[in-house]
Amino acid sequence: MLKRRSVDTGEKGKLEFLLRGIIYCRACGQKLTGEIHPRGSYYRCLPNLHKGKCNQPYIPVKLLDDQLEALYERLQPPKKLLELLKVEMQEIARRRKRIAEKEVKTLKRTIEDFESKEMKLLDEMLGGKVAREIYEKMEKKYAEKRREAEARLS
Ligand SMILES: [Zn+2]
Repeated sequence: MLKRRSVDTGEKGKLEFLLRGIIYCRACGQKLTGEIHPRGSYYRCLPNLHKGKCNQPYIPVKLLDDQLEALYERLQPPKKLLELLKVEMQEIARRRKRIAEKEVKTLKRTIEDFESKEMKLLDEMLGGKVAREIYEKMEKKYAEKRREAEARLS
């Protein structure tokens, strides 16, 4: 039961601490929790039932949050790189759009082709040029291909 409960992570309760339940103490291996004290908010290690209380001091919330923020700032890609990525992504979007438009055109043509094949086949059957059983077999095949194209188009 304890093991299952200890998996629990993330924010709990009304108080907001950026790193509560997310980071671990290097000394004791326990997760850090946040607490509000009259003299300020602190992170501290959760008690370990086997090893007892950690010897590390409490850490002011602002100090640790600021360190994370500084790290985050350093991880931001340079503006120049972001601009290059934007240009590249726009080009990819344009390329995909062109490919999609081409496919739509092809599918529409395919649908029209099979529709006219079906009509021609019907005419031939009605005119006595094609036997009914052959008509039915071919018509089924054409209709199936047309529906495939219609499904892809939609
Ligand atoms: Zn600790």
